[in-house]
Amino acid sequence: MRTDLSGRTALVTGASSGFGRHFCQLLARSGADVIAAARRTDLLDSLVADIAAEGGKARALRLDVADEAQVVEALSGLETLDIVVNNAGIAGPSRAIDCEGDEWRSIFDVNVNGAFYVSREAARIMRKAGRGGSIINIASITGLRTAHSAAAYAPSKAAVIHMTKSLAMEWARFGVRVNAIAPGYIETDLNREFLLSPAGEDMKKRIPQRRFGEIADLDGPLLLLASDASAYMTGSVLAVDGGHLASPL
Ligand code: NAD
Repeated sequence: MRTDLSGRTALVTGASSGFGRHFCQLLARSGADVIAAARRTDLLDSLVADIAAEGGKARALRLDVADEAQVVEALSGLETLDIVVNNAGIAGPSRAIDCEGDEWRSIFDVNVNGAFYVSREAARIMRKAGRGGSIINIASITGLRTAHSAAAYAPSKAAVIHMTKSLAMEWARFGVRVNAIAPGYIETDLNREFLLSPAGEDMKKRIPQRRFGEIADLDGPLLLLASDASAYMTGSVLAVDGGHLASPL
């Protein structure tokens, strides 16, 4: 497996918690020079210090992905970028009948628009540098099947999956690969309350592996897509869900 990322620069959005924090540590351990991007810079400072203490390389970048001007400004200072993980994401509690425009728009602003702004700026840098790159979008199995109380979230993740394929098609000519990971249910701040509830326990029974995922279950897919080990993969969507998508109707 060609998963050594030495000499590569990797940007991770939503790096202050959950998957994002873990991905920064994983990429740094694999040799990448990590740019940890998020709005909460106090949390990023401790992440950067933890990575440095392990002998890795990381720096913090204040970034609200939903703010297009800020994305353009923040990425304009970068000369090279080899790996981007569009991980920043938010969910909302509402069923469609109760979902107001503000909730719908804020979820699309972060999950879809934010991933687009970051991808576009990254692809411009990658095209100019002429050494290709890998963009990884963190989608969700809810972008492939429906889910209760995910009126805006599930469609936003479906949009991320289709955007992954569109960008892969357009940017293959620059050597920029664009793939997605569609995680199943993995306990983080985003969903802890639900997963630990009786409804969460019911859901667990419908997962063929009968367990929720752990963040480390994403390590193999992330390193695969970030590295040359996936040189011939673009426009792909990898489900990491304990078989949840394959559960019976
Ligand atoms: P999380 O809430 O811990 O992480 C999301 C991160 O995104 C947070 O650090 C948050 O501050 C950041 N963020 C939100 N809005 C932002 C913005 N405008 N700009 C920059 N950063 C912003 O949750 P998580 O579970 O680690 O989620 C990470 C990603 O994985 C999300 O895209 C989520 O939709 C996706 N996902 C999670 C699961 C799961 O089971 N946990 C399953 C499928 C997909």
